[in-house]
Amino acid sequence: MSIEEEIESLRREIRRHSHSYYVLDSPTISDAEYDRLFRRLEELEAAYPGLFPPDSPTGRVGAPPLETFSTYRHTIPMLSLKNANSAEEIAEFNERVKRFLENDREIEYVAEPKIDGVAVEVVYGNGFLEKGSTRGDGTVGEDVTENIRTIRSLPTRLSDGKLPIPARLEVRGEVFMNIAPFNELNRLREEAGEAPFANPRNSAAGSLRQLDSSITASRPLDIFCYGVGVVEGVEFKTHMATLEALEGWGFKVNDMITVSKGIEGVVAYHRDMETRRDKIPYEIDGTVVKVNSLDLQNRLGVLTRTPRWALACKFKPRQEVTKILDIEIGVGRTGAVTPVAVMEPVIIGGVRVKHASLHNQDEVDRKDIRVGDSVLVERAGDVIPRVIKVITESRSGKEKPFKLPDHCPLCGSAIVKEGAISRCVGGLACPAQLRERIIHFVSKRGIDIDGLGEKIVIQFIDSGLIKDVADIYALKKGDIAKLDRLGEKSADNLIRAIEKSKKPSLGRLIYALGIRQVGEHGAKVLAKKFGSIDSLIKASREALIDIDEIGPETADSVVTFFKEPHNLEVIRKLTDAGVEIGEENAQTVGTKLAGKQFVLTGTLPNMSRDEAKRIIGSQGGRVTLAVSQKTDYILAGEDAGSKLEKGRQLGVEILDEEGLLALLGE
Ligand code: NAD
Repeated sequence: MSIEEEIESLRREIRRHSHSYYVLDSPTISDAEYDRLFRRLEELEAAYPGLFPPDSPTGRVGAPPLETFSTYRHTIPMLSLKNANSAEEIAEFNERVKRFLENDREIEYVAEPKIDGVAVEVVYGNGFLEKGSTRGDGTVGEDVTENIRTIRSLPTRLSDGKLPIPARLEVRGEVFMNIAPFNELNRLREEAGEAPFANPRNSAAGSLRQLDSSITASRPLDIFCYGVGVVEGVEFKTHMATLEALEGWGFKVNDMITVSKGIEGVVAYHRDMETRRDKIPYEIDGTVVKVNSLDLQNRLGVLTRTPRWALACKFKPRQEVTKILDIEIGVGRTGAVTPVAVMEPVIIGGVRVKHASLHNQDEVDRKDIRVGDSVLVERAGDVIPRVIKVITESRSGKEKPFKLPDHCPLCGSAIVKEGAISRCVGGLACPAQLRERIIHFVSKRGIDIDGLGEKIVIQFIDSGLIKDVADIYALKKGDIAKLDRLGEKSADNLIRAIEKSKKPSLGRLIYALGIRQVGEHGAKVLAKKFGSIDSLIKASREALIDIDEIGPETADSVVTFFKEPHNLEVIRKLTDAGVEIGEENAQTVGTKLAGKQFVLTGTLPNMSRDEAKRIIGSQGGRVTLAVSQKTDYILAGEDAGSKLEKGRQLGVEILDEEGLLALLGE
C-alpha cells in the first residue's frame, strides 16, 4: 500500500468509527485502537504535509449533530484535547508550553481527573438555565436543553454566592453515569433483549441524546463542571478561581482537582490517579492538565482541534477488541460447567489476556456470542476479563453459535441445567470435582476418617494414588508412608482410621456422597425411609417427593445423581473394596417423637433452628412451616411471631426449649 493509500484508508476508517462512536453511541473498536489509528494518521500527515486536506479527521472535533435534534451554535468553539499516553509525553507538553511562552520559570498547572462521559455546554441567562447542548463538531452541537434539565445535580438557577450572578454564563462539563447504576441499566437492557452499552460513557451519551426527555430523566445521569465559555460581568485570573466560582454558584466540581507548580507534581498526580481509578465510583480514563493562569492560556491560544494550554494524559486502556478463536468448557470444583472464550491474545491494562469466562449458556445466548466473533473485552483492575459485547458489524457469516455439550468433557457424565448454571452430575467420578468430593467424603460428618485432612488428600490426588473416593480403601501403608512428611506411624494410624470407617451408617454414607441439596439431616431422612443404598438408588422421583422433608429440587438431584452410571460405578467399587454400607441404624433415629408435627418460631436460648430440626427429626418427629390443625407442638423461643398466636387460637401445645428436652427425656 502506498503512503497516499494508507492515509486515505486511515481517514476512511477513522470517519466510520467516529460515526459509530459519536453519532450512534455504539463503538465498533476500542478507544485504544481508535487512538492508535488516529496517532498513525497524525504522524503520516506530519511527515507528508502535502497530503493533509482541510477535512481530515485529525483537524476535526467529534462529529456533526444528529439531524433529529435542533442545533446550537457555541459562542466559543468546544475543542478536544491533545492526547498523551506516558509521563514522558506530559514532560514534553511542559517543554512545549515553556518554549512557546519563551518562559523558563516553572508553570503552575491544574490537574484534574478526566471524566469519561460526554461534553456539554449549559447557558445561564441572569442566573437561569436557558440552553443545554452537546459538543457536536465543536462549533455546532445538538440542543438537548430539556434532557439536560433532568440532571438533578445541575442547578436550573444559580445560587447567590460571594460573586455576582453573570448576565450570561456558559458552563462546560462532562455528563457521566456512575458505574453501579450503569451496570444495573445494562442488566435491565440485556434482560429486555436490548444491546448493552459498551461502557458508562456510551451509556451517558445515549441517555443524554434521547428525543424523549422522560427517558433521559429515568437514567441516572450526573455532571461535573470543569470550565466556562463566555462569562459576562465577572472576570477570573486563573482556571482554579473559575472552578471555585462555579462551585459557589451551585455547580458540582470534582473534588480531586489540584494545583501544582511545575510538571513533576502533575506526573505524580497522574500516577496516583491511575492507582486510585478502581476505587472511584465513576469512570475516569486519564488526567487533564491545564495551565492555571488564564493570561498564559490566552497567550498560548488554540490549534484547529485542541488548545495549546491543555493535555489529556490517558491511563492504560481497559477495553480492547479481539477475536474469539474457540469456546472451551471449564468444569469447576463443584461441578459447575462454564464456557470459556479462548481469544486472540490482547494486552489490556498492561496484561496479556487470552481467556474470558462466558459464565453460562444463558449469558452466551443473551449476548449471542459465537466462535469467530469480534468482541469487546474489558479487564478492570484485578478483575477477571469479561466479554462486554459482540461487534456484530464485523460478522462475516461464518461465525459458529455455541451450545454447551450434554456430557462432561472430563468424565463423560451427564450435564444438567439448574437455573442458569449447568453442572456435571458425575460428582464421584469427575476429576475436576475430586478434591472437594474427597474432602467432603472423609470429613467428620461424612464417613469420618480421622487424620485424613485436606493437605493429605491433595497429596494423594497429586501423586495419582486417589482417582475417586473408592480408591481410599485401596491405599497401602507403603504408599502412604512415602508421602511427604508422613512417617510409618502416621501411615499406621491412617490405615487404622480407614479400616474403622468401613462400616458407615447408611445416613452418613448418603451424606458423604455429596449429592447436591442433600445435607446431613436430609441424608438421615432418606436413610430411614429407604433402609438400604440399593432401595435409594431405585427410588423414583414420586417416592422421594412423597417424603415430607424432601422437596422437588432435592428429589430431582437425588434421581439425577443415581441415574449417572459413573456414580453407580464408584458406589460398586466402594462395596467391592469392603465398605459395608449399613442398613439404617435404629439407634440414630429414635421414636420418641414419632409421627408428631412441630412448628418452630422465634429464637431458642441454646439451640439453633437447624439443631432443633435435627433433634426432632432424629426422634421421628417432623417440622413443618405453617401451623394447622395437624400441628402437635409449637416450639417457641424469644420474639416468636404470628405462628405462636395462631397456635394458641387452635389450642396447640406450646413448648419452649426445656419442654422439648423434657419430651425427649433429657
Ligand atoms: P478526549 O476524550 O480525548 O478529550 C476531550 C474531552 O475530554 C473533552 O471534550 C471533555 O469532554 C472531556 N473531559 C473530561 N474531563 C475533563 C476535564 N476535567 N477537563 C476538560 N475536559 C474533560 O477527546 P474527544 O475528542 O472527546 O474524544 C476522542 C476520544 O474518544 C478518543 O481518544 C477515543 O478514545 C474516543 N473515541 C473512540 C472511538 C471508538 O470508535 N472507539 C471513536 C471516536 C472517539
